[in-house]
Amino acid sequence: MTNHVELRSDTFTKPTPEMLQAMFKARVGDDVFGEDESINMLEAYTAEMFGMEAAVFCPSGTMTNQIAINVHTQPGEEVICEQGAHVYFYEAGGIARLSGCQARTVVGTRGQIFPEQIAPLINPEDVHRPRTSLVCLENTCNRGGGSTYAMDNMRAIRSLCDERNLKLHLDGARIFNAMVANHENPKDYGNIFHSISICLSKGLGAPVGSILLGSKAFIHEARRARKAFGGGMRQAGFLAAAGLYALQNHVERLEEDHVKARKLADVLENISWVKAVMPVETNIVIFEVTENHPSSHWAEVLRKAGINVSCPSANSIRMVTHLDITDNDIDRTIAAIAAL
Ligand SMILES: *Cc1c(COP(=O)(O)O)cnc(C)c1O
Repeated sequence: MTNHVELRSDTFTKPTPEMLQAMFKARVGDDVFGEDESINMLEAYTAEMFGMEAAVFCPSGTMTNQIAINVHTQPGEEVICEQGAHVYFYEAGGIARLSGCQARTVVGTRGQIFPEQIAPLINPEDVHRPRTSLVCLENTCNRGGGSTYAMDNMRAIRSLCDERNLKLHLDGARIFNAMVANHENPKDYGNIFHSISICLSKGLGAPVGSILLGSKAFIHEARRARKAFGGGMRQAGFLAAAGLYALQNHVERLEEDHVKARKLADVLENISWVKAVMPVETNIVIFEVTENHPSSHWAEVLRKAGINVSCPSANSIRMVTHLDITDNDIDRTIAAIAAL
């Protein structure tokens, strides 16, 4: 499969030689004891970047999201999120399993939800009703085709959360894609959210790792939850060094991935078996196929032509551009699509 163009996900990136050098040179210690210098450096660097008090390094974005949910809620409470949100759709029932909470889902617009939709779902104080305690947003929205939130909308949602005494968490697995696309500043996000989860292992190209950001008190509790969830690692500074390298060297270049994604989308617009292409804002292209064949058929045909794609549903295909996708890979993909 090494010769295939890997468009299934931006999680497939391999460390660059320079990143590997940074990993080799990492100074490490026992992070559960707070003594891994590379992890401490990465946490401090990220917290400062977002203007938040503290950060904790974790093995995955699923863990940072689920820790945030666990710390922000009590069992029996309700979490509001979009119906395709990663926290609800792709985290193996973690909201119920790990925190004893249930989700109240909203049908969004390409993954985005609005204060007018959230307000009526916040339960009143009533013994019959679960207490609503948390709203989770996702930016960029994975199942929304890499769509991004408007800053004004996120601010309006925070105001609503303040009025109704709710916490607001951001699943920012691809937050840097959103920031690069919309020319935003990390501190804007730090001001809006009570907690933010960031993935280093997506388009940023680190092999493993996510960061959870929040207040000092929140991160103190998050460290206990991380231990309980089995995410307390020891000399994981080798991974943190890769993450720090990615944050310092691989952010601006995300724009190149966005250009490549748009190029793919432009071609797909004119293919007979493609019914509709979702607007491309970042590095994800999702398109619907015509009724003649399910998406799995086209994924298999493309795989045989050397192109790996994924199927988010029975009638849609997803392609994700990233650090390891070259211009030549895009040309190969376009040629393969045109030849079907
Ligand atoms: C990838 C992803 C995550 C975290 O995934 P892990 O594989 O657990 O690191 C969280 N949210 C979104 C939107 C994602 O795409």
